[in-house]
Amino acid sequence: MTEPVILVVDDDPQVLSAIRRDLRSRYREDYRVLSANSGESALDAINQLKSRGDALALILSDQRMPAMLGVDLLAKSRDIYPIAKRVLLTAYSDIDAAIRAINEAHLDHYLGKPWDPPEERLFPVIDDLLSSWQADYRPEITGIRLIGNQWSLRSHEVKQFLAGNLIPYQWLDNERDPAVPQLLSAAGVNVEDLPVLILEDGTILRNATIAQVAECLCLKRAAAHDLYDLIIIGAGPAGLAASVYGASEGMRTLLLDGAGPGGQAGASSKIENYLGFPSGVSGSELTRRAVAQAQRFGAEILAPVSVTGLFVDGGYKRVTLSDGKELVSRTVIVATGMTYRELQAEGISGYLGAGVYYGSAITEARSCLGCRVVVVGGGNSAGQSAVHLSRFAKEVLLVVRRQALEPTMSHYLIQQLASLPNIKIRTCSVADRVEGQGHMQKVWLKSLADGSISGEDAEALFIFIGTRPHSDWLPESVMRDAKGFVLTGHDAQIADGFAKIWKESREPKLLETTVPGVFAAGDVRAGAMNRVASAVAEGAIAVRLASDYLART
Ligand SMILES: Cc1cc2nc3c(=O)[nH]c(=O)nc-3n(C[C@H](O)[C@H](O)[C@H](O)COP(=O)(O)OP(=O)(O)OC[C@H]3O[C@@H](n4cnc5c(N)ncnc54)[C@H](O)[C@@H]3O)c2cc1C
Repeated sequence: MTEPVILVVDDDPQVLSAIRRDLRSRYREDYRVLSANSGESALDAINQLKSRGDALALILSDQRMPAMLGVDLLAKSRDIYPIAKRVLLTAYSDIDAAIRAINEAHLDHYLGKPWDPPEERLFPVIDDLLSSWQADYRPEITGIRLIGNQWSLRSHEVKQFLAGNLIPYQWLDNERDPAVPQLLSAAGVNVEDLPVLILEDGTILRNATIAQVAECLCLKRAAAHDLYDLIIIGAGPAGLAASVYGASEGMRTLLLDGAGPGGQAGASSKIENYLGFPSGVSGSELTRRAVAQAQRFGAEILAPVSVTGLFVDGGYKRVTLSDGKELVSRTVIVATGMTYRELQAEGISGYLGAGVYYGSAITEARSCLGCRVVVVGGGNSAGQSAVHLSRFAKEVLLVVRRQALEPTMSHYLIQQLASLPNIKIRTCSVADRVEGQGHMQKVWLKSLADGSISGEDAEALFIFIGTRPHSDWLPESVMRDAKGFVLTGHDAQIADGFAKIWKESREPKLLETTVPGVFAAGDVRAGAMNRVASAVAEGAIAVRLASDYLART
């Protein structure tokens, strides 16, 4: 296979030659650096690359070109190569336009001219963008291949599991991909064996389950030590942050997750409001970085490992796992977050994984190419998913219970939705019933204004409504509010029944639960802000409180 391409575009021959020279000096081993001197010739080159099946990793274009502005070229290139990174080269005077274009043309970065010295101003940015592209990019056919039926719950679970554990794989749909029959016969398997996982070394897993996949890929599922200073349950942003800070403080730290690192944030196509990422960052990219950082400090990470119980034994906390094993720690941080509430609509449960998905817009987006899809929900997660799905689907219908999006969705997302022609919004409506044959094909919507029912043909329904905390595995001594969110600090202290449970002479600390030495951080906690930044902050604070607790006991 030929190397992926970096395309540079500028009508000024001197600038073009300088940027091409700099990029070649650093990236020529792994990338082909091609150039074009106008927007039109760049589009021709992009179309040719596409028709040859070549990969375009990054396009860097000057803004001011006579026939086509850089932002317009970058916006057009997105239709052909949706995941290629887009960088605008601007003069100082165009920086305002570049900032606006980050939202409108979905730019990944803008780079001011001149970029000297490239070691400081050019290469770090391009390195970052290329490593993020590499993480998203799926080469034609190499590495792990998963063959299955798009409308099978088992296939969906394996896809979710691989994505959650940041394992790159190639998805091949039995019904759509022409390469499948040949691959199946070469592997000596038939359609009854789906989903089938083919590893790089030729190992074949028939009727693959998550447990078999984890075992086959040698994912670590057994703890290295008998006793930990800190066990963190849940590897979303709160748990990942806690593991970075715990391990960096020298605590013997173990991070457990029932699925794989990332949590809800791992399902986010673009987190736009996290500090330090002016062009946004995908949840999977943030997770990849956090896992690398935690491991560098020596945190141990086990997944998939579900925690089923917590018992206090003197100064020790015993954590029980779904496979019956038990782990012991001196402190625990509960960071198990929450998931979306189930949609009460007729027929939903019959199509789970077969067209009906809870919060899985990222994993399933590519399978929605050219399809019509429905997204239910009025919050930021529903809005973001609709924007992401619009890159692949023919049409996205966003169904919202309220009369307007403003009370529940960020302003920038409402603007993005309005700017995308293939997104339609239906307010004052709910999903009433779904139907289909083999997989979901139709969603019936009910108007809350007049009670009328209308049918919408759609191949997928993504649900983002209300939330349910992952706290039912906790003992009664960890007090929760009426909805199941864990009470900490002052909130716990003022709750009914606190005095019966809390027997310390001191008050519970800020993020401490009603069990001394057990802390809660992130979305599972009552009063949490439900943001990546606040979950990360709480993870870090909880570590500090756990460290103080260890010092006292
Ligand atoms: C689609 C989407 C888009 C979003 N976009 C944004 C955004 O742009 N900006 C923003 O600030 N916020 C965003 N959010 C919200 C943000 O992702 C959450 O607030 C954040 O992820 C909460 O982090 P957390 O670590 O508390 O919990 P979670 O992210 O929910 O992680 C909890 C983890 O615990 C694990 N777990 C649960 N129970 C157990 C158990 N019993 N045993 C072991 N492991 C368990 C789960 O598998 C999960 O990995 C978005 C959310 C979604 C769903």
